[in-house]
Amino acid sequence: MVNTRARSRLLPIKEGLKFDEMVQMVHENFGINRSSNELEFSYALPESMLRDMPKDTPPVFVNNDRQWDSMCEMCKSMPLRLCISVKNGILGNHDQGFNHEDTATVNPEDTAVVKSKNVNRQDSNQEPEVEDSNFHDAKVIKKGQWFKNKAELSWSLRMLSIERKFRMVVSKSDKKLLVVKCVDTSCKWMVRAAKTNPTSEFFWETKYIDKHTCFSRNIGGPRASSRVISKLLLENFGNSGLNMKPELISSIMKKRNGLDSKYWKIWKAREEARTEVLGSPESSYAQLPVYMHKLVMANPGTIASLEVDSEHRFKYLFFSFAASVKGFKFMRRVVVVDGTFLKGKFKGVLLVATAQDGDSHVYPLAFGIVDAENEASWEWFFNRLTSIVTDDASLVVISDRCLAIAKAVAKVYPLAQRGICTYHLRKNVISQPGGRKIARLVKTAIKAYTTAEFDLIFSEIRRQNHKLSVYLEDADVHLWS
Ligand SMILES: [Zn+2]
Repeated sequence: MVNTRARSRLLPIKEGLKFDEMVQMVHENFGINRSSNELEFSYALPESMLRDMPKDTPPVFVNNDRQWDSMCEMCKSMPLRLCISVKNGILGNHDQGFNHEDTATVNPEDTAVVKSKNVNRQDSNQEPEVEDSNFHDAKVIKKGQWFKNKAELSWSLRMLSIERKFRMVVSKSDKKLLVVKCVDTSCKWMVRAAKTNPTSEFFWETKYIDKHTCFSRNIGGPRASSRVISKLLLENFGNSGLNMKPELISSIMKKRNGLDSKYWKIWKAREEARTEVLGSPESSYAQLPVYMHKLVMANPGTIASLEVDSEHRFKYLFFSFAASVKGFKFMRRVVVVDGTFLKGKFKGVLLVATAQDGDSHVYPLAFGIVDAENEASWEWFFNRLTSIVTDDASLVVISDRCLAIAKAVAKVYPLAQRGICTYHLRKNVISQPGGRKIARLVKTAIKAYTTAEFDLIFSEIRRQNHKLSVYLEDADVHLWS
């Protein structure tokens, strides 16, 4: 709501507030006559969601408690802008000075901050109405266009220069005025924008010469910061841009936008885009307790365990979905465990435990995140796993030859039998000198049905590569599985 007199209002939104109560609160706070004015509530879906949707996705309207609740639920995890419009446009206590649009930002603390844009309608013959469609559309600049502030105007200009492949320079810039020209001093292209009044944040284009009279438009090409590149990347490729190689991004940006950026800048831009979409690694770890809590709430029966150190920093994580927990009783009592390195900023290791169904298909059981594969971390993981998989003689735990796993299994699952994964074993054989040659024999030995057959194949292995046969014997044939 563009409202000079009522200005901003803080509207507290408590948990469980009904839609009708919210409507009443807005009427009261902005002094709008309820009987003759109907309010319309709507909000745009957050940018992170819109990225995967068609460009013309309309705003979401809120008319009842159910829609209001789902909006409140959504804004617990991401900021939303609630737009409240007065339908017939006659405001109770204020007879003039409004453009009937209200923008409220609802923050996750269940409080709404209602911002009022500061525009006076009385000057409307000189200043255009503020429509939201005039905002955010970087790359399009018109005379008489409004910008929320100087930063938004500068941003639009930067995007424009990239889109049109020219370089510009700031000729004048202070709190009230911004003049930007083409890098070629003889060129007439220019934009002049001024602040509307001292208290307002709005910038208004007062002069715009859209035509370049220079011939050097592509000399040097436009310049872009990593932030601009990251924005372009997301705009053009959405989430798939996050996994593109910097070399590829660089060549596309060069072709499309004439940008000639250094490798490090492109790499940084991709990291910034990742942070924007996925959040920073720090914030992701910080959200883990809440996420785990919600996971258990949404999937009753899910097991989640988070271990922190004495300074409340992340140490270990374990989780197993309710479906995995419930289904294990129908699986073969074979648990395969393994760890793999994580490549994120904080590294660490992802631990996985799977079972097998009657048809030897992989059945996911549990996941863990720990600092490294060692006895302490595996022991912690197995201790959590005991709530799903109990120890007894019919259980087989299979892993690679990691000593830490062997020790931890012996401690936590003393009754269970242990097996060595022959897939890992064969991979180890292949990586050793002459290993590739005898790998096939090893595979046949693994599949051997009788001891005699096995002995025969193994003596051939011994004959061909004595060193590797010793290695294989060390790996304890009885544990092969
Ligand atoms: Zn020019």
